[in-house]
Amino acid sequence: MSTVVTITEAHVREDEAITITQEAPIFDSTQLFSERVRRWQPPAIASLEPLAEAPGMMNLIVGKPNPDCFPFSGMSINLKGVEEPIQLGDKDLQNAFQYALMPGGMPELRQWFEAFQAKLHKSGPTGTWGCGIGSGSQDLLYKAFQVFTDPGDSILVDTPAYSGVLGFLNADGHNLVEVPSDAEGLNSPELERILATWPHDKHRSPRVLYTVPTGSNPTGLTCSEKRRIEVLRLAKKYNFLIFEDDAYYFLDFSTTYPKPRSYLSLEKEITNQTGRVLRFDSLSKIVSAGMRIGFLTTSCLPALKAVNMITGNTNLQASSISQVIALSLFRKWGHGGFLQHAARTAEFYKHRRDLLLAAAERHLRGKAKWEAPQAGMFLWMELLLPEQEKDSFEVLRKYASQAGVLAVPGTAFLPRGGKSGFVRLSYSLLSDDEGVADEVCRRIGVLVDLAW
Ligand code: PMP
Repeated sequence: MSTVVTITEAHVREDEAITITQEAPIFDSTQLFSERVRRWQPPAIASLEPLAEAPGMMNLIVGKPNPDCFPFSGMSINLKGVEEPIQLGDKDLQNAFQYALMPGGMPELRQWFEAFQAKLHKSGPTGTWGCGIGSGSQDLLYKAFQVFTDPGDSILVDTPAYSGVLGFLNADGHNLVEVPSDAEGLNSPELERILATWPHDKHRSPRVLYTVPTGSNPTGLTCSEKRRIEVLRLAKKYNFLIFEDDAYYFLDFSTTYPKPRSYLSLEKEITNQTGRVLRFDSLSKIVSAGMRIGFLTTSCLPALKAVNMITGNTNLQASSISQVIALSLFRKWGHGGFLQHAARTAEFYKHRRDLLLAAAERHLRGKAKWEAPQAGMFLWMELLLPEQEKDSFEVLRKYASQAGVLAVPGTAFLPRGGKSGFVRLSYSLLSDDEGVADEVCRRIGVLVDLAW
């Protein structure tokens, strides 16, 4: 247990008193655990596994297939622009093609990422915090929601919201409470108003706030540090957790410094505790989406354990091959190489964003409104539609074929559904050719014209 020690010995003058913050106390998040997670049990054999380490033990527990029957004899990874391929050694090969029996991920990969997170977001020794690996951050998000919410519970959702979580949250019949975002990010005064006037007679107070703080999907906007701090204060005051889904953290184009710190790195300073933030990182946007690797980082170790327990009972583990490839790559790169690659990738997307913004400026003034994305791969655009047609879904349905352009209608990002005049344009796959961005925006202009 951590302590805050203030040294005010008689021989130290009061104004010289030193405050040594050893470790911030860890918030006991188990009080917010759902009923349903309490019903999950570790797989039956898990408790016997430590016995396997006993000298001379003939272990017949494990149902691993015999790798002699696998057809693979080697694997090498070619990297763009690098002549020497990464050759996987025997141990890596054994790991790659076999069950890992570690629902939280390969220890070496976890430790590599923990050391990385320690640089980027987290202080204090691991053990007071840690990482778990999932099949993409989506998998970890789904399971973390299982840990803290029961069907029908209220969840605070930064809105507009990543539609990928709305499907499973709505399927559980949750009361999704929309907390609007503006150009500065999550609207903390509005969040406070929602919490201060909470209808306790109708709904149990929310235990989770879900937010995408960097380059939000769909808005492309990044939450300011000031707002993050206010949100953290509210999390403590109203006793909820923050699910920080930072899938676009590495695709940051902003040129203002210092960059906002993550919720995970701010929580200790702002709440004087740790363990209220669950942070989700993804390899999908910068290494490979098909590898399906994501990381959950938190001081809320019981939550990490519970997520791993659900993994152990459901999809067993993230892909071993993907984990081995990620580890081999990271060892080659080191933390510096990872960050260099991320910076190059961000530059790639920034270039495409700039092409689209310039084309929008040329073709869509007076027909649409938008804010320049600060990170990520999306432009959130409000189509200036006639009053009776202020529904981009309807407009797309009626006129997309004729205009020859398709985008995601804003309604897909509204937790409670409803009409929206916005569309989300993805520029990630846009060609480098200025003419293509021009044509895209010209066609969106046609779409708007058709609606009038
Ligand atoms: N969060 C956000 C905001 C996303 O946009 C995505 C991917 N579209 C995910 C999570 C899921 O990412 P992953 O591939 O790591 O599961």
